[in-house]
Amino acid sequence: MTRCPACQADLELDGYELDVGETIHCPECAEELRVVSSEPMAVKAVDEEEG
Ligand SMILES: [Zn+2]
Repeated sequence: MTRCPACQADLELDGYELDVGETIHCPECAEELRVVSSEPMAVKAVDEEEG
């Protein structure tokens, strides 16, 4: 299970084909998240990277 690092919502990414480096938006808080790993799926807030 992949959780949003900002609000901890379950992103339900199972079954999605996301490549490392792609960005998605959390459906709960609209945080912009970048895919940093696909096995296992992991995301990181884009704001964190740029700070
Ligand atoms: Zn969120």
